[in-house]
Amino acid sequence: MAPSGGRGAAIDIRSATKRYGNFVALNDVDLNIEPGEFMTLLGPSGSGKTTTLNTIAGFTELSAGELSIGGRSVVGLPAHKRNIGVVFQHYALFPHMTVGRNVAYPLGLRGVGKAERDRRVERALDMVKMTDFAHRYPSELSGGQQQRVALARAIVFDPPLLLMDEPLGALDKKLREWLQLEIKRIHRELGTTFVYVTHDQEEALVLSDRIAVFNQGRIEQIGTGRRLYDEPETLFVGRFIGESTILRGSAETSAAETAITVAGERVVAPKRLGKGGDPVMLLRPEKLVLVRSGEPVPAGHNRLRGRIGEVIYLGSGSKYEVSLADGSAAIVRSTLVDGGFAIGDEVDIAFSPVDIKLLADDDRAD
Ligand code: ATP
Repeated sequence: MAPSGGRGAAIDIRSATKRYGNFVALNDVDLNIEPGEFMTLLGPSGSGKTTTLNTIAGFTELSAGELSIGGRSVVGLPAHKRNIGVVFQHYALFPHMTVGRNVAYPLGLRGVGKAERDRRVERALDMVKMTDFAHRYPSELSGGQQQRVALARAIVFDPPLLLMDEPLGALDKKLREWLQLEIKRIHRELGTTFVYVTHDQEEALVLSDRIAVFNQGRIEQIGTGRRLYDEPETLFVGRFIGESTILRGSAETSAAETAITVAGERVVAPKRLGKGGDPVMLLRPEKLVLVRSGEPVPAGHNRLRGRIGEVIYLGSGSKYEVSLADGSAAIVRSTLVDGGFAIGDEVDIAFSPVDIKLLADDDRAD
């Protein structure tokens, strides 16, 4: 899992619970992070990501549970003794200090001598491509430049662990995408452990070795982006990562398969394991095939009748929203820029049983 080095610290969080009065912000969370890994904590607002990060940093004490960094328990160890680099969304640079002095600050705290300090500051600024700005003040920098300086300041003392809480949250999309690649490169070059908080699933997919998906103080699933997209274990994860179509119907499971009646039509799905009420079907937009009503579909595919509700031009292809007879909507993505379909056209969507994810219906509110 670790991309390089082995210079990073492992993190082991076990049965972590954090309560604020009666409110449970973290509920029995287990999380192992490998040395050198890029781990992203992903989830909606209030799901417990920042609480987890602050616990690792030492800014928040757990109500119960274990936390070790680099194989050593840090419960009760104050933040400044944990030797961790931290970057927040709102650049906390010292306004009255130049970029160079901002970056040198953690070295001063650690009693590093002048020559060594200058050498390390230069290396850190070089790493974030800000060498030419060493004599500027923070107010003379753009938001993206300030974040790069904050990053330099967080890595200048070679911490085995870097924590970042929405560091790109305040920046515009283009800059964010470019800085994501920069952060990825810096992670690769340093080989240290990165823990990154975001609510942006695309950002998580771009950056991470693995992603932990948070929901209401719990982790729903931990895995590579590909794994979460292809094999979501819960409906929440399936919906949070990537685009999806969710279809509901009544299910009957036989020895070989599960048949689900959706909008009056029968859909064949893989045999359902486990019990519970009717499962939901999750389908990815690139797995759906769109044909004119009644035209042939690939062998073995299911077919559902619908009508084109929306056509969205994506530049590299097109996306269609197809309304089904029961009022649900399917999202179909095609690499054809012009598939020849227009709003109102009668169509069939086709999909293979193997591309259906059957999941427990953990939320009927959508
Ligand atoms: P966001 O993306 O909005 O920062 P998050 O997933 O990082 O969300 P946390 O900041 O970890 O969420 O917060 C989890 C829950 O704990 C939230 O409901 C929040 O209101 C609550 N919480 C956090 N800090 C405190 C506190 N000091 N006192 C009371 N409740 C708190």
